[in-house]
Amino acid sequence: MLLQKVLIANRGEIALRILRACKEMGIKTVAVYSTADRDLMHLGLADETVCIGPAPASQSYLQIPAIIAAAEVTGATAIHPGYGFLAENADFAEQVENSGFAFIGPKAETIRLMGDKVSAKHAMKLAGVPTVPGSDGPLPEDEETALAIGREVGYPVIIKAAGGGGGRGMRVVHNEEELIKSAQLTRTEAGAYFGNSMVYLEKFLTNPRHVEVQVLSDGQGNAIHLGDRDCSLQRRHQKVLEEAPAPGIDEKARQEVLARCVKACIDIGYRGAGTFEFLYENGSFYFIEMNTRVQVEHPVSEMVTGVDIVKEMLSIAAGNKLSLSQKDVIIRGHSLECRINAEDPATFMPCPGLVKHFHAPGGNGVRVDSHLYSGYRVPPNYDSLIGKLITYGATRDEALARMRNALDEIVVDGIKTNIPLHRDLVRDKGFCKGGVNIHYLEKKLGMDKH
Ligand code: ADP
Repeated sequence: MLLQKVLIANRGEIALRILRACKEMGIKTVAVYSTADRDLMHLGLADETVCIGPAPASQSYLQIPAIIAAAEVTGATAIHPGYGFLAENADFAEQVENSGFAFIGPKAETIRLMGDKVSAKHAMKLAGVPTVPGSDGPLPEDEETALAIGREVGYPVIIKAAGGGGGRGMRVVHNEEELIKSAQLTRTEAGAYFGNSMVYLEKFLTNPRHVEVQVLSDGQGNAIHLGDRDCSLQRRHQKVLEEAPAPGIDEKARQEVLARCVKACIDIGYRGAGTFEFLYENGSFYFIEMNTRVQVEHPVSEMVTGVDIVKEMLSIAAGNKLSLSQKDVIIRGHSLECRINAEDPATFMPCPGLVKHFHAPGGNGVRVDSHLYSGYRVPPNYDSLIGKLITYGATRDEALARMRNALDEIVVDGIKTNIPLHRDLVRDKGFCKGGVNIHYLEKKLGMDKH
């Protein structure tokens, strides 16, 4: 079974990535765009295009009725949400399916379950996935009970919004005196940002790494993992550079957690591609959240497994069983990904504008996922990600050497980018050694608070 026509409800590099996968499979494509995005590269490659509204995402890429109407007028049979925008909006998934289209992702109820971090953590605990010790549900408003939980978990703790995302709605608490006030502040913020003031408490791990597991599951009782990724190089909880596999992980703990993730997918009837995010400290994994969509960093897993994650997503959404079993997945070699952002390398302020000249690097083991071309104007309205530079090598050192070359070759003229930061990172002694923790980059940049 094959999907006939896919509407791509996204923009930029991921829209192009999805379009390429559809074309490979012989699936027709519909690209939707805002008035600020008339020059996006994939519009010229799509079978049909539909303008869905003005520049602000709230009036275009987040407009559910406009997207569903575009699917109706073009006769699309399925919608791929990409990442960001509506990708983890359960109401969107529900409306897509209620309107008779396939949603290329999990069922709405799964997105809802995982979108609430308290219910997600509970579900994972039930499935036997190790979680960060904490409040086991929402942090009660009652002060005495809350203080007792804090005491039992032990300081420092972190208060997190149940509906949080994108690194927002979190507050570290170092002692009992701060707990009640911090919980209240986070509740107020969470209510304002996410429309859900529920918060929970967990142990604040001091020097963890961010290690995540990529899964594919067909919702028909079959699930596999594609190994792990390390995304510890972060700034303000935003990933900067990722790699697969995570270097220097205890092999027994790794195999155990991979198996648990696969089992959890089967337990919850998961459908599509997904990521289990963990903190890894002192040889142990602690689940923090699940992303029910394709992730920015999915290519590094594709490079080390040879599996095309987006094509699998399209196949699963058409009702097919997984095309592979676990024994078909062999992790070979190493892959790195640098996120190229249109931003000032010193201040990190977004830097949209005209790309006068773009030269993509090449050579053995080099992959560029980007919608850039010479003469393209990066609009100021959206995320600053303009491309991903991905390298593969038989070893981590080879992948690193190829990344150094690729970063030396790439040219993005006319706007500021974070390429200088990446050139520095791939030569950084600590990073080259492997296994740095989530504070490493901020410490290096001289902005660490801990
Ligand atoms: P979001 O959904 O906003 O990305 P996450 O729960 O995934 O939130 O956490 C984002 C980041 O915050 C993690 O990658 C990690 O750097 C930090 N973090 C979250 N929970 C903890 C914790 N219990 N201890 C230490 N750091 C944490």
